Amino acid sequence: VTIAIDPLAPEAMRTPPARVVRLDGEDDWDGWRDAARRFLVARVGPEKIVWQPGESADDLFAQGAVDLPPEPQLELRVPRAFPELAKSAILHRDPERFALLYRLLWQITEHPGLISDHVDPLVRRTELMAKAVRRDIHKMHAFVRFRKVEDPGAANTGGTRFVAWFEPEHHIVRATAGFFVRRFAQMAWSILTPEISIHWDGETLTESPGTDSSAAPREDALEEMWKAYYAAIFNPARLKIGAMTKEMPRRYWKNLPEAQLIAPLIAGAQAREAHMVDQDVAPAQRAQTLSALSEEAQGCRRCPLWEGTNGCVFGEGPGDARLMIVGEQPGDEEDKNHRPFVGPAGGVLDRALVEAGIDRTEVYLTNAVKHFKYTMRGKRRLHQKPDAPEIDACRWWLDQEIGLIRPKATVMLGATAVRGITGKAATIGKMRGKPTPIPQGIGVVTWHPSYILRIPERDAANAAYAALVADLRLAATQARSG
Ligand code: SF4
Repeated sequence: VTIAIDPLAPEAMRTPPARVVRLDGEDDWDGWRDAARRFLVARVGPEKIVWQPGESADDLFAQGAVDLPPEPQLELRVPRAFPELAKSAILHRDPERFALLYRLLWQITEHPGLISDHVDPLVRRTELMAKAVRRDIHKMHAFVRFRKVEDPGAANTGGTRFVAWFEPEHHIVRATAGFFVRRFAQMAWSILTPEISIHWDGETLTESPGTDSSAAPREDALEEMWKAYYAAIFNPARLKIGAMTKEMPRRYWKNLPEAQLIAPLIAGAQAREAHMVDQDVAPAQRAQTLSALSEEAQGCRRCPLWEGTNGCVFGEGPGDARLMIVGEQPGDEEDKNHRPFVGPAGGVLDRALVEAGIDRTEVYLTNAVKHFKYTMRGKRRLHQKPDAPEIDACRWWLDQEIGLIRPKATVMLGATAVRGITGKAATIGKMRGKPTPIPQGIGVVTWHPSYILRIPERDAANAAYAALVADLRLAATQARSG
């Protein structure tokens, strides 16, 4: 970071002189944080600082450089939510973001509670910037498509390199590099973007300047594989064009080989749906597709929950089950055993199934979220409720399970399952005890067994358990008659 006096600053900013902070790039979080701490402790107000990312074209401010305020002796305390928010927001394309963040930091030191005031215009604007950046990162994770090229320089990977072209909206390329390094550690790859390009050779990550799309190959042999994969997972019975274009915005289509199939697949969707309804897919074929789906889900990175788990816990049960039961997410036992409902809550469910006269082996059991979300307490992994974006990300898998099995009735255990199936929030006490229409067949909402286990009063727990058994009986009747 360099600081200079701006000779062209307006009069009001010259006394004391405005300081130009030159950052090392558009995403220079460390430089911004270091300068912000020093200025804050030196009580240099937001209106006295001009933030300049990168080199300025005419180098106006190179004259008269002055030192940063000294390293503060005191530890600067800010609410933890601030750096979490600022670290994302600083990657936004808005040229004012550095100044806005410093102004927010300045105000927070006087009113620490401000960071929780979500209607404050400055907090709100920062939150929206952070949200846009997170969404852009998610899209980059999902929509980078590599093409294979010969590269004699890629000695670590047998002369093969995978090259992708991507146009992010914000300054997120360096922030996503770790994701691609972890995911494709054994490959040599390059991601080219207009602002900066990143390259991995199997051992080292390097950077080069941005480029244009002509530098990236347009097609390769993998093209057909992507298309075949997309056509195989495309489920006409679950087609929602609005949701699909929201998940896969049109601006990314030109770089996605599978996007070429979208129009013909949508056009043929109704015909394919009618075909699926008329001609039942053979159970063996469904089982095979479910097992392929389960394998595919092991590599899922659609949300961060895969990290630190033993793998994805996919659903289990017959591919032609008339009854499906959807829970929340795998717990500690399920994660270790790679099977749903084998922990304490699974024990309660097993007992309730027997009392309701349902054979577990005839039911397809799955969860709305397929990876275990937890927090560490000492050496123990404590369950944490998945949040809405995680449930929505994992609906990708649940939708495909439902589309293949097409159950006559679906039991939704708790609010997470309801959100996974319907996309909406739920009050279980109000919804349970009666059939609920859902996009596929009939739904029955009831208590999650783990909720019953957490009820401290014996009578209340017994009542909730009796309700669970009654709701399972209702679902079994619906499944038989549907
Ligand atoms: S929880 Fe679901 S969406 Fe998230 S990584 Fe696991 S399988 Fe993918």
